[in-house]
Amino acid sequence: MRFKGVVRIELSRSLNQDDSKALEEAIREVSLSLVKGFRDPEDGGRVLSWRSEDRFLVLEVESRRLRIDEAAMRVRNSLEASLGSSRRIGVRDIELESALVEIDGEIRVSTKLPFVKSIEAGDKQTTIHLKTLGEKDLKKPILLRLLRLLSEKELKAGWRGKTEHWQLVKESKIKFTTPITMEDPNKILEEAGLVKRFSIGQWLYTPLATYLMNMVREIFIREVVIPLGFTEAVFPKMYPLEIGLKTGHLRGTINSMVFASLPKTYNIEEFEELTDYMYVTNEAPPEEVGNYLRYPEYFLCYAQCEPFYWFFGGELIDDASIPVKWFDRSGPSFRWESGGIYGLERVIEFHRVEIVWLGRPEQVIQIRNELLSEYEKFMDRVLDIEWREAWVTPWYYEQSGAVERVEEFNIDRPGTIDFELWLPYRGPREDRKAWLEVGNLSIHGTKFTEPFRIKHNRGETLWTGCSGFGSQRWLTAFLAQRGFNPDNWPPKLRDYLNRNPPPEPVATVTYPKTRTGREELEKLVKFLWR
Ligand code: ATP
Ligand code: ZN
Ligand code: MG
Repeated sequence: MRFKGVVRIELSRSLNQDDSKALEEAIREVSLSLVKGFRDPEDGGRVLSWRSEDRFLVLEVESRRLRIDEAAMRVRNSLEASLGSSRRIGVRDIELESALVEIDGEIRVSTKLPFVKSIEAGDKQTTIHLKTLGEKDLKKPILLRLLRLLSEKELKAGWRGKTEHWQLVKESKIKFTTPITMEDPNKILEEAGLVKRFSIGQWLYTPLATYLMNMVREIFIREVVIPLGFTEAVFPKMYPLEIGLKTGHLRGTINSMVFASLPKTYNIEEFEELTDYMYVTNEAPPEEVGNYLRYPEYFLCYAQCEPFYWFFGGELIDDASIPVKWFDRSGPSFRWESGGIYGLERVIEFHRVEIVWLGRPEQVIQIRNELLSEYEKFMDRVLDIEWREAWVTPWYYEQSGAVERVEEFNIDRPGTIDFELWLPYRGPREDRKAWLEVGNLSIHGTKFTEPFRIKHNRGETLWTGCSGFGSQRWLTAFLAQRGFNPDNWPPKLRDYLNRNPPPEPVATVTYPKTRTGREELEKLVKFLWR
């Protein structure tokens, strides 16, 4: 990234011959101020040329890592200090003209953005020309955010499409020299009628399917979540857009979010035309319904931890109140997965236990470490299945307002560990597609405490962490490895079955639909009721 621009400074009086020595000295000072703080002076800024015209000093400036707005302000402040003390000349005004940002790679920027005048897109380079900026503009956070956006776009253009960095951290030993089963549990659950497709990416879970999903989830809560001291809360599942602006999801994942609209009015009479139409035609055309709705002001639960940051937002936290350790399992999450939807594993409506915590960095790291070791025990000893862990970080990382490229793996830096379980039905372990991400474990640094303004009363840094346990995925992955026969299940799951009798399956004249489905169900009944 390179910046260029013309800084036009209005002085309190015109310059004359007597000022020339002081002026040259002042320009030297400006040059020094532009490289201040940069180990490599090349990264800072420099004065390309300058001239004085009556009361104006006009400097052509360029810079690399020093943002052009900051360079302009440095020019201003430096001139004010040096000319003020040597010649009692003040600075009246400043303008940044013909400023441009040159970016490596081809990026797309809208000319509707504030301060953007025009864009020249080349093959290897994009140039963004900015409108003339006054002193007030130079101090606006909106300009800062524009320049940060451009630098993010440049970083992203550099790694084209790759959004995550995946690195294997640990894996279980091989537990099944021959797999217990090669069957796809999604198929069995559907054929045997335990679940029925409600709509695209949505299922109805009959009592027996619910029982199985709860079994894995309850044991997880009992074995991992409660012993580590997390307590249950109930979070809302429909969020105002503003929440997504603060978490960054509206920028990063808007393509997979589900939105909600309120009706334009509560007065049912105003719907009469529509309700009459639906009465007579027995149709509900979405485009007609849409006319009666407000724009989407909400999105449905996406990451499930958002309300936690909102709750502590604007509050002052003292040492006695941290760490905070909560979990929520009170409702579904929604994601539009488009073409990727499959079985119970990738759905639009799913259920998750979301574990959240807040504290000082060392507390947050320690809690993550405790959870990590308990997750491993849960996978190894309780479910007794094959697993692996990967360190996944985005290629860039936003901290204290700056965008940085993540180079190396450091478990104590903000980032995510994904838990993946092997799905034998999908192929051998070597095949990346044969592994399913079932949960994640993240520490965020100040990613959320900053935008939500969660503050410590003595100014200490606060971090957050979260972990999502996707109920559908843990169940299907468990069944994919251990099958439906409890003889092949580990003791804690058999024990759960013995203590909690499962509910009857659904069997009607026409359901399950197929003969194989009915046979599958018979087999299941033999397994579960003995
Ligand atoms: P993937 O890469 O498989 O899409 P993700 O990275 O989007 O997963 P996260 O955002 O980390 O998933 O969500 C946390 C957990 O929520 C996942 O580990 C998974 O258990 C669950 N989950 C996410 N998306 C879905 C979905 N579409 N269907 C079912 N469970 C899901
Ligand atoms: Zn989360
Ligand atoms: Mg996803």
